[in-house]
Order: sequence, then C-alpha cells, then structure tokens
Amino acid sequence: MYRFYLSKKIEDPQQIIINNKEIIKKITKVLRKSVGDTFILFDDQAEEYEVKLTEIKKDQIICQAISRNFIDRELALEINLYQSLLKKDKFELVLQKATEIGVKKIIPIISENCIVKDLSKTKISRYEKILTEATMQSGGKITPELNQVLDFEKAIAELNTEDFNLIAHEREQDNKLINILQNNNFKKINLFIGPEGGFSEQEINLAQRYSVLSFSLGKRILRAETAALVACGTISQIFIN
Ligand code: SAM
Repeated sequence: MYRFYLSKKIEDPQQIIINNKEIIKKITKVLRKSVGDTFILFDDQAEEYEVKLTEIKKDQIICQAISRNFIDRELALEINLYQSLLKKDKFELVLQKATEIGVKKIIPIISENCIVKDLSKTKISRYEKILTEATMQSGGKITPELNQVLDFEKAIAELNTEDFNLIAHEREQDNKLINILQNNNFKKINLFIGPEGGFSEQEINLAQRYSVLSFSLGKRILRAETAALVACGTISQIFIN
C-alpha cells in the first residue's frame, strides 16, 4: 500500500486535509486514486494511519483515518553515520540505503582525502528529500537527521565517550566488526566511514587517541559507499526488532 509522509502533525485523523501539491499530484494524477480509495499517511510525530480518500478539491484533498498503525520499524539502537563526503551519486546512495536500514543521524564529514570538500544548499535540500523518500518507502517513522558538515578532527573531538565509537579501516587486521558487535552491549553507535581515498594514518591515529575503535570489514577493499552499507547493514541485523 502506498505511503505518504506529511511534514506536519496529523491533528484530526477524522479529517486530514492535504495541501502538499506533490502529494496531491501523486495521489490524484499519477496513482489516479479516487474517493473511497485507501493509502497510508504518516506524520512528523511518527503517527501512521491507513486512510480513505473522502474528497478531492482543486488544491487540496481530504482523507479520513480508517485505522492507526502501531508498527515499530525503528532499530533497537541508534546508529549515527559519520560519512566522509563522496561524489554526488555515491553520497546519495549512502543516504538512501542508510535510511532504509534505519540509521538515525547522518553527519557528513570532511576528512583529508575527501575529493568533495563542501555541501551546497541545493545539495542539502536534495539530500533531505532523499532521506524523506527513503523513510516513506521503507516504512520508517522517523526521517534521519542530516547534520551540518563537520571536519573530521572536530567530529572526533566532540564524540561522547559513553557511546560506542567505531571507525572503518581497511588496514585494520584484528577487530572484525561482527566480533565487536557480538561482544559488546551498547545503545548508540557512532560509525565513521572514509572517503574514496580512505582515512589518512594521522586520522586513524587521532581517532584511536580518542578511543575510537578501528574495525575491519574483511580483507577486500570496499568502495566507501559499499563499506557504509555493509557496516550499517551488519549492525542493523543484530539489532532489528
Ligand atoms: N585506502 C583505500 C584503498 O587502498 O583503496 C581506499 C579507501 S576505501 C575505498 C573507502 C573507505 O571504506 C575506507 O576509508 C574505510 O572507511 C572503508 N573500507 C573499505 N574497505 C574496508 C575494509 N575491508 N574494512 C574496513 N573498512 C573498509
């Protein structure tokens, strides 16, 4: 069943008025829904309803809730992905897949070997749209937060040592991610993934000075976007509800 995200609280489930032009167009023109048809609406309070279309007007549509869904699809722990900036399509892939997996926050970071060194306003709004769409598609209730861009050093220095802080390093020989996860219990993971050129040795040393644990995803060298997805996916499989 189609799901649509309303970026405002559903005040009265018995009369939900939708003014969002994109949603109206998708429902009435693309999906050609008519009065009596049903679909899912969820709002920014993580409330989700199955609704029936009751009225179609020129600039708004009105729906009525049939039932309220209490499906909790969020992970049992919080994953904050500190992703080094990547070229546009790769970074967008990470945003979309990390959202589907259930990552709570994505913090773009600039590390020494980043090819991309900043995020324009247009890119940020595009990225936020990707997060919302991936949340809708995956049945998530809370759209991940896209943080301000942080320098690597600042991101490391600001870490909370109470959290479980991990950095993916292709030259790590000992700590396999799966072993780390099975031998520790924690509620929040801050996960660092490097750029196309990898983290520098200085960056890895700095992270280790701040007790960030470097881990291996195996002997093969993964692309950054692959590493992000494998790492988030591995963590999520241990903590899915
Ligand atoms: N320096 C790498 C090389 O020799 O080609 C390039 C870095 S890799 C493309 C990008 C990032 O993915 C790395 O900084 C690391 O965070 C992560 N990564 C890739 N393969 C990994 C592995 N086997 N174990 C842990 N992390 C890995």
